[in-house]
Amino acid sequence: MPAYLDNAATTPMRPEAVEAMLPYLTERFGNPSGSHAVSREARKALDDARDTVAQCLGARPAEVVFTGGGTEADNLAILGAAAVRPGPTVCTAIEHHAVLHACDALGDNRLVPVDEAGVVDLDALADRLDPSVSVVSVMLANNEVGTIQPLAEVVRLVGELAPEARLHTDAVQAFQWLDLASLGAGADLVAVSAHKFGGPKGVGALVVRRDVKVQPIIHGGGQEHDRRSGTHNVAGIVAMAAAMRATVDERDTTVSRVSALRDRLADGLLAAVPGSLETGGRGSKIAGNCHLSFEGVESEELLVLLDAVGVYASAGSACASGAVDPSHVLAAMGMSRARALGSLRLSLGTGTTDADVDLALAAIPAAVERLRAG
Ligand code: PLP
Repeated sequence: MPAYLDNAATTPMRPEAVEAMLPYLTERFGNPSGSHAVSREARKALDDARDTVAQCLGARPAEVVFTGGGTEADNLAILGAAAVRPGPTVCTAIEHHAVLHACDALGDNRLVPVDEAGVVDLDALADRLDPSVSVVSVMLANNEVGTIQPLAEVVRLVGELAPEARLHTDAVQAFQWLDLASLGAGADLVAVSAHKFGGPKGVGALVVRRDVKVQPIIHGGGQEHDRRSGTHNVAGIVAMAAAMRATVDERDTTVSRVSALRDRLADGLLAAVPGSLETGGRGSKIAGNCHLSFEGVESEELLVLLDAVGVYASAGSACASGAVDPSHVLAAMGMSRARALGSLRLSLGTGTTDADVDLALAAIPAAVERLRAG
């Protein structure tokens, strides 16, 4: 059996989500915006899904805007809030490109540095905040190195120094592992994406708090209270809600089981491979993330060898794959080019087993040795 260790790129769908969505791909095909019985059935499913999603995110149902994934949710948060109140944006240097490029598109973005563990520099953040700032974006957990950001501190600083600014958090990688209902509570805008926690691709949500306005970035029929037009992806939304419910119900057990697997994997590799280093502090990262670098090895070559023996991993963020330069995240953490190019992300998920870890522990040291031997 191969070992799928790329859950930060995407997760397999949970059976609960597949089962929940199937009727909405077949007999319950209605458009929820209509008024007859077929539409009403779809509308009911949408309303129920909204209640579930709201509850899992610690929001009110009316605060949930369904989107076509995490990228769209990030764009709606940043472009939508900045359109209501223009001004400079502020974001960390390790945001996903969905945030970084949306901020860049607005033309006046202030980047906040991070330390060598990938944690935002709060003094530097304070320096970049002033009353003119429109949107501040700080991700809850990073997609490459898994570091969790001190969001409560960020909420406090923004409240003090840029009280009119809207605070957005990209919680796309966080939802699987962290309780957003409490951790995301201080943010005005919170983005999630279903395919990172056992839901389908191409569906996500943005929490837009009651007193927060966003201008739509997609115009049309006025769905989602005029915040996101387009016929709802009913099947996808129903599946996302089912995946969310199961994720929240099982989260505590998943986190303890997966962090034990991750620790065995990371400790085993560090012991077996001379010249290996772990990225970031293990105590302050999400349970599924194992990020290591191997001296004298190019991770692109390592991935090819691992692929051939059924160990599926990633050299950096999946969205940036193909790039030969070190990722912007590792560069922002001050990692040397050589070390960054030799780094491997192994991301565990709800389906990861002891056998996956055993396979990775056998395959990775052998592959590294082979590459070093030339
Ligand atoms: N934000 C983060 C932190 C991510 O990891 C990703 C996906 O990799 C996204 C946003 C984009 O989400 P989606 O793939 O749903 O567009």
